[in-house]
Amino acid sequence: MTTAKKPLVIGNWKMNLDYVEAVHLGQQLGVMLKNKPAEHTDIVVAPPFVDIRSVTSIVESERIPMDVGAQHVSAHDNGAHTGEVSISMLKRLNVQWVLVGHSERRSMYAMTDEVVAATLRTVAKNGVKVVLCVGEALSVREEDGQNEFISAQLHSALEGLDENYRELVTVAYEPIWAIGTGLTASTEQVGEMTSHIRSVLFKLSLSEARVLYGGSVNGDNASSLVAESNVDGFLVGGASLKADSFMTIIQSCDECYDGKR
Ligand code: PEP
Repeated sequence: MTTAKKPLVIGNWKMNLDYVEAVHLGQQLGVMLKNKPAEHTDIVVAPPFVDIRSVTSIVESERIPMDVGAQHVSAHDNGAHTGEVSISMLKRLNVQWVLVGHSERRSMYAMTDEVVAATLRTVAKNGVKVVLCVGEALSVREEDGQNEFISAQLHSALEGLDENYRELVTVAYEPIWAIGTGLTASTEQVGEMTSHIRSVLFKLSLSEARVLYGGSVNGDNASSLVAESNVDGFLVGGASLKADSFMTIIQSCDECYDGKR
């Protein structure tokens, strides 16, 4: 981490934990954060939709220093979209962040670049923070096409974004081949890609956006990744389901930021 941006760690709980389990994990994190506060790191958890109200309730009542995010939202404001959830519904639950374009949404639920761009604008125009997820498949990296691929995803989602919305944007680089596979990208690969992403963001007048890495981050690899890869934090899947490992990741970011200020 070479920039002085405040680190951000987001736990993507995916389709795990019912509302009782989600409350339990939230409470565990609350106790741990009380005992060892993260002084410099912004923390977000993104539970499944049906858990959000329970998790925001305990975050608020127990004053846990973390925000609640959603893993997805409809690009539409309301109407005949069976099975979808709107941004205004999420705002009513005090959701402050939304992941947009996670590779699992893109690959398994046919979320196209156009839908990603439209969803990002729907979230931003409602004043909610957006985490734009980008990442290449293994086949793209094997042909050394990752930089072009990521540039195209960033341009397609962010080009022409109203300047009022820019401060709401975070980018998460998540190579598909590293998600949930245990195959973490090397610190070098992550470092090269975050520099590339920052140069594209600069051209898009989005230099202030934080750039996160996601892909099999865990309590063991977080500190070297954050220290050596020029990232502003992490988007964490599997390791965010256990309070201990999620806290270790948060503390790695916190300590690294402290040491580099
Ligand atoms: C993710 O789903 O965003 C993710 C990074 O998952 P994992 O940490 O399990 O690879």
